Amino acid sequence: SPGLTLVATPIGNLADFSPRAQQALAEARAILCEDTRVTARLLARHSISAPLLALHDHNEESEAPRLVARLLAGENLALVSDAGTPLVSDPGFRLVRAAIAAGVPVSAIPGPNAAVMALTLSGLPPHPFLFHGFLPTKAAARAAEIARIAAMEAAGLSATLIFYEAPHRVAETLAALAEGLGPDRPAAVARELTKRFEEVRRGPLTDLAAHYAAHEARGEVVLCVGPAPPPAEASADALDAALRAAMARMT
Ligand code: SAM
Repeated sequence: SPGLTLVATPIGNLADFSPRAQQALAEARAILCEDTRVTARLLARHSISAPLLALHDHNEESEAPRLVARLLAGENLALVSDAGTPLVSDPGFRLVRAAIAAGVPVSAIPGPNAAVMALTLSGLPPHPFLFHGFLPTKAAARAAEIARIAAMEAAGLSATLIFYEAPHRVAETLAALAEGLGPDRPAAVARELTKRFEEVRRGPLTDLAAHYAAHEARGEVVLCVGPAPPPAEASADALDAALRAAMARMT
């Protein structure tokens, strides 16, 4: 069908490439992808051949009008990223926005997403959650971003936080989160999801920071941090005592 189709691809395990995803790619007039070599490899394994066009952060804005014109002319274009769900810490948002503004039909074939998979395995409250994607890589900017999150929490935000991170920065980012959000905050590190060495490590932020300082994380990693503890809630005993005191004053 004409229009733009966002197609999720595996995040490590090729068996997660759904039949619908394969069909949508096989039927596309062209496939927009981040890295044509990565997508060409995936397609070759499934004997899918379609022209590939590179769409990445550096050309998306300039290519969007041309692609929208092709969509308006009735072409059926698919969008994939290197892995997982397009747009989620990956290119595509500007094209989707332009397509919607032009009245082009946009549909999606859902599939793997590292953030949601990590959230479901984290043992932390699944909602509300705040997907942050990558934090800044420079220490000062990262600390400032974490301070902004802490300020939102102080104002009442109580959500599980989800971050993407490069393996060699996992230890320092966990330490920065412990520093900015509190050392005892429950957290989870999900590594190599859907792959052979899949692992989820759960514990307080400081413990996880210490672990990954000693053993550098390998592979791909998602960090989940539990919600800020609610403001100290009155216990039933405290409420009883307050009530008794108030009644005593009344008599
Ligand atoms: N669009 C992708 C998705 O839907 O999850 C995410 C793309 S983003 C550029 C790549 C980051 O996602 C990695 O640095 C890592 O934080 C996370 N990620 C992707 N695949 C993963 C996996 N198999 N296990 C753990 N984290 C993964």
